[in-house]
Amino acid sequence: MRLLGRFIIAMVFIAGTYSLPAQETYILCGQLLDCTGETIKGNSTIVVEGNKIKSVEEGWINPPNAAKVIDLKNKTVMPGWTDMHVHIEGESSPTRYIERFTLNKADVALRATQYTTRTLMAGFTGVRDLGGSGVNVSLRNAIRQGYVVGPRIYTAEKGIGTTGGHADPTNGVREDLRGDPGPAEGVINSPEDARKAVRQRYKNGADCIKITATGGVLSVAKDGQGPQFTMEELEAIVQTAKDYGMHTAAHAHGAEGMKRAVMAGITTIEHGTFMTEEIMDLMIEKGTYYVPTISAGNFVVEKAKIEGYFPKIIVPKALTVGAQILDTFEKAQKRGVPIAFGTDTGVSPHGENAQEFELMVKGGMRPIDAILSATITPAKILGMEDQLGTIEAGKLADIIATDGNPLEDISVVRKVSFVMKNGKIYKQ
Ligand SMILES: [Zn+2]
Repeated sequence: MRLLGRFIIAMVFIAGTYSLPAQETYILCGQLLDCTGETIKGNSTIVVEGNKIKSVEEGWINPPNAAKVIDLKNKTVMPGWTDMHVHIEGESSPTRYIERFTLNKADVALRATQYTTRTLMAGFTGVRDLGGSGVNVSLRNAIRQGYVVGPRIYTAEKGIGTTGGHADPTNGVREDLRGDPGPAEGVINSPEDARKAVRQRYKNGADCIKITATGGVLSVAKDGQGPQFTMEELEAIVQTAKDYGMHTAAHAHGAEGMKRAVMAGITTIEHGTFMTEEIMDLMIEKGTYYVPTISAGNFVVEKAKIEGYFPKIIVPKALTVGAQILDTFEKAQKRGVPIAFGTDTGVSPHGENAQEFELMVKGGMRPIDAILSATITPAKILGMEDQLGTIEAGKLADIIATDGNPLEDISVVRKVSFVMKNGKIYKQ
């Protein structure tokens, strides 16, 4: 008997090493916006096997008996969207400034699981997180490992700034709590510091580097526009990030800091509020992407009008900067600056990211260009072009559907009725 038992165990073990073929899922699409070009296709079938797209067929294919079928015959199907600028750890509210002193990291993380869920359900299968406390790295890992529901996260971990600059975490804090944060905390004051801060982000698990090239609206500091890095510091950041295989993003409102960042070879300019025509042309020449975050601009203008919502020092900055962004976007997109979709959600509420599409169209962009800016363009910036961004055989199965065709009516982006990420269905 003991021998037989061992035999059975051995057989089970051997059988276990041969995995059964993954189940196939046939997604029957009414219309397919595969994002390989600018046109929308009619009835189509996407065959998904495991976490990948196996094939894309014209018309509705009769699925084999064993296959799972998803009927999206009256939907428009497209690749999952990626928002290139969010802060997944938090959400702005009148109590946000005090919460810096009351919430533990675990509190931040638990709340953020709600934000990640809302984001994914809104059709965003990917986000680039441009700065938090480091909880964003844990969230990325927990989502990857299946503990938490959410989008793929590409994170900058903690943003890098200069002393008193937009990403200095102790701005506006009482003297005895202010201290002197350094590269480990993301605060630099020399090219040496810059290199150390980038390497520290790498060590902490960042996927990319975020810097605050100019002042910002929501930091407790008076200047929202001036440059905050020297050229040497910027070059040290960009070069070191490249050494570690990371791209770079620069928050920038004012022209001088923005121009320096573009000259230094930064990958994306965030907000770009007071972008001049000279900078636009420089960005076109260097292939620098513009991530507009019009949603955030609108949100801060609206909230700045509510007494007590923001600290007083922030209100005038919110009113000037916020109002300018749509106007700049209009000019930049008309001029041909490469644009990637990004909202700065976390300023505005998580799960409402898609409203940016409507604002982009309002700013003169063609709906197809707005959709491409959230699909293939982010995939290119993230170096994931061979795996994400279009619906093609061999790519990862990040697939969503809207009730209606966004090329005809952009408001349907708010009606996402199907979400698949990595071959798994999260919303149907
Ligand atoms: Zn931001």
